[in-house]
Amino acid sequence: MTHPQALTIAGSDSGGGAGIQADIKTMQEFGVFGTTAITAVTAQNTLGVRAVQVMPLSLIAAQIDAVAMDFTLSAVKTGMLADSDIIACVAEKIKQHRLPGLVIDPVMVAKGGTPLLQESALDSLRRLLLPQACVITPNIPEAEALVGYPLQSRERRVKAARELCRMGAFSVVLKGGHCEEDDAADFFCSPQDEGWLTSPRIQTPHTHGTGCSFSAALCALLARGLPLPKCVTQAKYFVHQAILTAPQYGQGHGPINHFT
Ligand code: PLP
Repeated sequence: MTHPQALTIAGSDSGGGAGIQADIKTMQEFGVFGTTAITAVTAQNTLGVRAVQVMPLSLIAAQIDAVAMDFTLSAVKTGMLADSDIIACVAEKIKQHRLPGLVIDPVMVAKGGTPLLQESALDSLRRLLLPQACVITPNIPEAEALVGYPLQSRERRVKAARELCRMGAFSVVLKGGHCEEDDAADFFCSPQDEGWLTSPRIQTPHTHGTGCSFSAALCALLARGLPLPKCVTQAKYFVHQAILTAPQYGQGHGPINHFT
C-alpha cells in the first residue's frame, strides 16, 4: 500500500524538534510519505543554534530534481531557505517541475534569535516564491517583515493577510502565537473563506518547532486531498495538542510532541 507523497525543502535541526526533522515526523503522523531537500544544516539543541552551514545550490537543486522526477508529489512545503540565491533556485525548481500544493513557511529567525534568512532575501521571497504559494504561514514578526508595517491590532493583521493574498499567495494563515493576547488567534484568508481560528494559549517553554510542524501538517493534509479550510483547522488542532503534551527533552526550550 502506498501513501500520498510530499516534499519538504528546509533546514536540518540536529535537535530533532524543528526543520526537516519536524516535517518528516509530522508527515508520518498524518500518513504521508515525506521526502526531503535539505537547504542548510544547523547544529542545535534545546539550548539554541550553535552553527549553520548552507548547502551548495547545485546540491539543493539536485535533491529536488531527484525527488520530483521519481515520486508523485501531491504537496510541497518550504521552510528555512537562508538566502536569496536559495530562494531563486527553489522557486525555479518548483516552477520547472510544476510542483503542486505549495505551503510556504517564511522562516526568518529561530526563537533563540539566530537569523535563518538574510534580510536581503525578503524581496526574493515576495517576488519569486509568494506568488506560487497555495498557502503562506507567517507568524506576526514574519508578516510584519513581509508587509513592512507593525501588526499590533487584529484589524492590522486582517489587513496584512489580505495584502499578502494581493501580493500573489492564494491563501494566508497569519499565526497569532507571538501576540500578547490570551488566545492564540490565527487569521485565515483565501478567495472563498476568511475568519479567525482561536485556541487557548498554553503556558510552556516547550514550543520549539511549532511553525515547522504547523506548515508540515498543512502540507500533509493537502497531500491527502482535504479541502484547504479543513487542512488549516486540523493542522492547528495538531499543533495545539503537540504543545499541550510536550514533555521535557534536553535542558532548555524543548520541542513540541510529534507523537499522536
Ligand atoms: N531550525 C530550523 C532548521 C528551522 O527550520 C526552524 C524553523 O523555523 C527553527 C530552527 C526554529 O524553530 P523555533 O523557532 O520553533 O525554535
